[in-house]
Amino acid sequence: MATKRLKAAGPETDTGRPQPCEPCDALPACLERQLRYNLCREESRHQDLFHALAHGVKEQLLDSWRETRKRDAAGQQRQVAYLSLEFLMGRTLGNALLSLGISDDARKALLPYSVTLEDLESEEHDAGLGNGGLGRLAACFLDSCASMDIAATGYGIRYEYGMFAQKIVDGYQIERPDRWLKEGNPWEVRLHGQAVMVPFFGHTQSYVDRDGRRHMQWVGTQDVVAVPHDMPVPGYRNGRINTLRLWKAEATDDFDLEEFNQGDYAEAVARKNLAEQITMVLYPNDASENGKELRLRQQYFLSSASLQDLLRRHCARFGDNFADFHRHNVIQLNDTHPAIAVPELMRLLLDVYCLEWDEAWHITSHTMAYTNHTLLPEALECWSVRMLGHMLPRVLEIIYEINARYLDEAAHHWPGDGEMLARMSIIEEGAEPRVRMAYLAIVASFSVNGVAALHTELLRRGLFKDFHALWPHKFNNKTNGVTPRRWLMNANPRLSALIDRRLGSAWREDLSRLESLNAFTSDSDFIHAWREVKSVNKEALAALVERECHVQFDTAMMFDVQVKRIHEYKRQLLNILHVIHLYQRILSGDTHGMVPRCVLIGGKAAPGYAMAKLIIKLAGNVAHMVNSDPHVTPWLRFAFLPNYNVSAMEVIAPGTDLSEQISTAGKEASGTGNMKFMMNGALTIGTLDGANIEILEAVGPDNFFLFGLNADEVAALKPHYRPDEYIRHSVALEGVIELIRSGHFSLQEPGIFDPIVSAIESPWDQWMTAADFESYLSAQHQAAALYANKDAWTLCSIRNTAASGRFSSDATIARYRDEIWTGA
Ligand SMILES: *Cc1c(COP(=O)(O)O)cnc(C)c1O
Repeated sequence: MATKRLKAAGPETDTGRPQPCEPCDALPACLERQLRYNLCREESRHQDLFHALAHGVKEQLLDSWRETRKRDAAGQQRQVAYLSLEFLMGRTLGNALLSLGISDDARKALLPYSVTLEDLESEEHDAGLGNGGLGRLAACFLDSCASMDIAATGYGIRYEYGMFAQKIVDGYQIERPDRWLKEGNPWEVRLHGQAVMVPFFGHTQSYVDRDGRRHMQWVGTQDVVAVPHDMPVPGYRNGRINTLRLWKAEATDDFDLEEFNQGDYAEAVARKNLAEQITMVLYPNDASENGKELRLRQQYFLSSASLQDLLRRHCARFGDNFADFHRHNVIQLNDTHPAIAVPELMRLLLDVYCLEWDEAWHITSHTMAYTNHTLLPEALECWSVRMLGHMLPRVLEIIYEINARYLDEAAHHWPGDGEMLARMSIIEEGAEPRVRMAYLAIVASFSVNGVAALHTELLRRGLFKDFHALWPHKFNNKTNGVTPRRWLMNANPRLSALIDRRLGSAWREDLSRLESLNAFTSDSDFIHAWREVKSVNKEALAALVERECHVQFDTAMMFDVQVKRIHEYKRQLLNILHVIHLYQRILSGDTHGMVPRCVLIGGKAAPGYAMAKLIIKLAGNVAHMVNSDPHVTPWLRFAFLPNYNVSAMEVIAPGTDLSEQISTAGKEASGTGNMKFMMNGALTIGTLDGANIEILEAVGPDNFFLFGLNADEVAALKPHYRPDEYIRHSVALEGVIELIRSGHFSLQEPGIFDPIVSAIESPWDQWMTAADFESYLSAQHQAAALYANKDAWTLCSIRNTAASGRFSSDATIARYRDEIWTGA
């Protein structure tokens, strides 16, 4: 082929890092060839042009991708396998161009087609293979691993249908299927040659081998084929291309011959669809478990396929010598979703590779590392023993064996304490015995981490305190982070360019250098330029709101934003109550100390979560009243943004002034939305929860609006919580509740918001909305006062960006690398 390719990872420098890629001059030719021969199009829709460009860009990175694989296959680095049921990747094009450093080349290549790069970028369908924070964390981690030259592979599922698309009809959430693959996925490479078989059902039997050793066998299984579809994960200008390997379930070719011969050909073929159901759809539950059998099948399918892949690679290099497997591999479990990988690795080592138990356990327990993502009891996964025994009989036997041996060890620590052992058992006894997946993960892992300092502390003190007493060395904290490539450089090119002008570009490789921005906080030109950038970004956000919500946001007003999954613990309700309070004040003529603001809420509710869906409806109805009253709109505008996703956040974070991080303390494990906003110069109004605490510490109390009870206070208040007292002592809250109760926001459907009023007034309201209301109000008041002073606000904005370096996922991944992934 005549076109010149991007050079593969160049000669090694003495730091061992590969040289950056050469600039690309082949794109125009690639683009034309793609259009003409691959897509068979001459005149094109934007969608076709996007596909041509994406294929062209992928072609540019194939050589480096192959080189990376070869280098890693022979390298000494311990390889990371990041197992996750979710990867919320968003779009790939902008990120790939940025990493390869060929955005300008792409712009030039597009000149003859009279479209802009931005036009084509918006043609790409988000890869929405995740629910929220947990899935987006996995995506940020992949980006950081590649950019830090770490050999890491993401293993996930290629769902045909990702996170549902949210429509709002009459204020109610409607779910629409997300057929993200319908136009094809230009980035993926299907590798049928590397497919593996995953067994289900059947039964176990023992046999004695020629040497007289007894083994177990899992027979009569129904097998499903797992076919890898690889997506490239380019590092930032370093020549490394890591892999996200997504498994697709397909039927085997072996038909039921009997049925086949009896002429039931069509029936026999149709039955094969059952296998393919496994990877059909992502479960849309965030922070709550879903006990469905199909979900367990997905978990096992991912775990087994990924482990077989790792073992095959290991054997290709070392033969069947597994003694050092854990020195070459580490498996990071993203929550308990893939925790079934623990007994599955044991099964493969015992039954397929014929290792002895102790050897297999040594390897497994030095390979597995577990990340916990939540303290909410409804999110802790337990699988029924009955279901496991039916679907995965051999795996269940191994879980029992792991439990028996571990309880022996625990019994040495607490001799004679049967109650303690029952409490700590992996098997929860009862009418319907269940396997506690978190316990299984802890027992088998050499590292157990929480995702923010407070969260890890609460794990140690609360949920896992018995395990912490037994194995304190296993527990460690790794505060989450977000990738600055996507969330600052790509999402906010104007701010990035402004920072380049003051600091040079070194901050792009080391985000802690943003601290130097503090040196310019008395430079009025810089402050002015900073505010200009924010203002232009607010225009882009206002355009999004206008297009999606038909509400006009005015960039002169404060943009006050809360976007995240809708959940009672995240307290979108508290935010709405504040909006109603402002609305009441404006109607009564009391605008003293107020600043004009535009409030935006966005996020999806789990389809079965009635209260979350009702909160969306309340937001919509309040927005309608607010926006249709000309006395109100000069002071207040309110919109609910439908279908919040990664691409929307790339517009939202740069255009936000005030970031709402208002969860009930002790409930949000970390949060990462909070970090994206901070990086883009938003100020936070927040509780002492998750990583907010660390954000406050980094930026200082003068640049953060703190309110509410802390986690200990919430816990202490719980047994004697009296919301009626708080309501009685707050004229504001009383007024807001009365207005909702009066039917002012539900004239068409009287009484629909009664469950919300009852929830606030209930002494069992875990989220303690009433308790924090007054404190929230006064923090909002402070925010308004500061916003009225434009320069003072802008200074705080600069200080937030300047302090955001420690929330780069590069910093987080450096700690995973140094404290978890090295060693063994
Ligand atoms: C960052 C992000 C999240 C997580 O937000 P939190 O505020 O931490 O809950 C969820 N969804 C999307 C699309 C995101 O980009």
